[in-house]
Amino acid sequence: MKCTLCAETITNPICPDCLSQRVFSWLNEINPVLAHKIKTLNLETETGDSCLFCGKKMSICAHCSSRDIYEFLEQNNQDLAKEFAARFDFELRKQLFA
Ligand SMILES: [Zn+2]
Ligand SMILES: [Zn+2]
Repeated sequence: MKCTLCAETITNPICPDCLSQRVFSWLNEINPVLAHKIKTLNLETETGDSCLFCGKKMSICAHCSSRDIYEFLEQNNQDLAKEFAARFDFELRKQLFA
């Protein structure tokens, strides 16, 4: 199964919902205002890989879903964006900070 956005093979299926829940619980302790503004991509599909955590079918890779959140954070708070990349590092860092 390949990601519909970047065409990379999905190796670590985590759906945008589960990812944003994780990000939310982290961010909520640091910056609750921003935490409540995180939007999730909703790209649920009938086909695709099952999320490792909730079993929902999904077709975008963790890299693409986390990238969206990263960009959102970067627009609001650069420090948090860096912290995010360090914590939820789905190979994001390699590309962004190489
Ligand atoms: Zn992708
Ligand atoms: Zn999930």
